[in-house]
Amino acid sequence: MDGFVRVPVREQDAKVRATNFKEVCLGYNKEEAENEATRCLNCKNPKCVQGCPVSIDIPAFIQQVKEGDVAGAYQTISKSSALPAVCGRVCPQESQCEGKCVRGIKGDAVSIGKLERYVADTAREMGIVPEGAKEKKNKKVAIIGSGPSGLTAAGDLAKMGYDVTIFEALHEAGGVLVYGIPEFRLPKDAVVKKEIENVKKLGVKLETDVVIGKSVTIDELMEKEGFEAVFVGSGAGLPRFMNIPGEQAMGVFSANEFLTRSNLMKAFDENSRTPIMRPKKCVVVGGGNVAMDAARTALRLGAEVHVVYRRGEEELPARKEEVGHAKEEGIIFDLLTNPVEIHEDENGWVKSITCIRMELGEPDESGRRSPVEVPGSEFEIECDAVIMSLGTSPNPLISSTTAGLEVNRRKCIVADEATGQTSKKGVFAGGDAVTGAATVILAMGAGKAAAKGIDEYLSNK
Ligand SMILES: Cc1cc2nc3c(=O)[nH]c(=O)nc-3n(C[C@H](O)[C@H](O)[C@H](O)COP(=O)(O)OP(=O)(O)OC[C@H]3O[C@@H](n4cnc5c(N)ncnc54)[C@H](O)[C@@H]3O)c2cc1C
Repeated sequence: MDGFVRVPVREQDAKVRATNFKEVCLGYNKEEAENEATRCLNCKNPKCVQGCPVSIDIPAFIQQVKEGDVAGAYQTISKSSALPAVCGRVCPQESQCEGKCVRGIKGDAVSIGKLERYVADTAREMGIVPEGAKEKKNKKVAIIGSGPSGLTAAGDLAKMGYDVTIFEALHEAGGVLVYGIPEFRLPKDAVVKKEIENVKKLGVKLETDVVIGKSVTIDELMEKEGFEAVFVGSGAGLPRFMNIPGEQAMGVFSANEFLTRSNLMKAFDENSRTPIMRPKKCVVVGGGNVAMDAARTALRLGAEVHVVYRRGEEELPARKEEVGHAKEEGIIFDLLTNPVEIHEDENGWVKSITCIRMELGEPDESGRRSPVEVPGSEFEIECDAVIMSLGTSPNPLISSTTAGLEVNRRKCIVADEATGQTSKKGVFAGGDAVTGAATVILAMGAGKAAAKGIDEYLSNK
């Protein structure tokens, strides 16, 4: 091995995996991981750590992998991250830690994500768990939402000795990790549930089926139930639609609904009580990670799938790896194309969608070239399902039921980036609820910052 090329990772064959929900990437074995670890230059000033929103000591854990010390590597990662098996699978490493790796200047960056996954998976198989708090503090903190931001804040606060309870609206913990990201990218029982169990082993209590703002309000938690601080990590689960004619037809879904039925309610399983439509030909509108997940799920349910996106290949916001996987599996990309109308049959079900070709015009405020319609280029795609994947916003339930909690015009909670402090005393927030839809690791970074902010606030109280 010349050091310039990373050790390739084994994957399920594209033709086979397009028909099943099993994990696509098979990960490194011991030998592959130790070989890849030798490519790390152990830089004095490690840029990879700067690229990691939770500042994992990457060179240290890779050194431990090289020495065969998986338990040590796991404890090194766990100091900064409560969800290493998740992050090793879904983080956009190419634009974070691996994007900064000096190895990447002349060859492939070290495969940091796959090494993190190897450590987390091996530690789990060995039954190793993160170290908890030595001393308890007699102070109660409530966490709203059990996504990556809430789990991280909860884990860090429990390690500091606080008495932490997570309140989750759904019947299962994990947020987007369980209801959004599909099984074939992130196994639920084998990976997500196990990492949540580890957070619980730190002493965190979890109450599911509690909708804050309906079952109980933040003000009641603080005034009547003795919680001295609250962290809001309620995400951004409210889907957006295009408001085009025909969008109310049966067979039009938000990506969130389609994925929730499949992932959380296991609708793809014949024994599940939740139905899911198995489309024959499906159009997914959008080009982000969520669109790729919806498209690849519909494909696995047996559909021919078209992804319709108004910009070009270069502008696709989804991770390159996900776009590559989708193409290998047979998803058809209709780029520079935008829907204008959905048509329904006599029973009210989708039968086709009219789209128009686009071309890229001048750059907009974001620097991206804006798509403009090509007059007279309309064409129709026959289909029996349309999945809208156009982004999401925070649900206003919490902000509208909490006195003095400021939100911006996008309904995101306003919170200090360094501490998570909101406009309301004792209430902190982070993750998608503050930034709008973003990434797992940014949500975790926000959860960590807020845990520190809460600790400072309660220590000075
Ligand atoms: C399909 C999909 C694929 C994605 N793929 C990737 C990827 O590959 N890589 C990546 O980094 N990111 C990905 N993301 C984005 C990432 O998952 C999110 O940015 C991240 O989960 C945000 O974490 P969070 O903790 O802020 O919120 P969430 O994960 O949304 O968790 C919020 C939790 O709060 C709960 N909640 C909401 N309101 C209430 C209430 N009133 N009371 C109690 N509980 C409440 C919700 O039920 C939920 O469990 C993806 C997102 C989706 C939807």
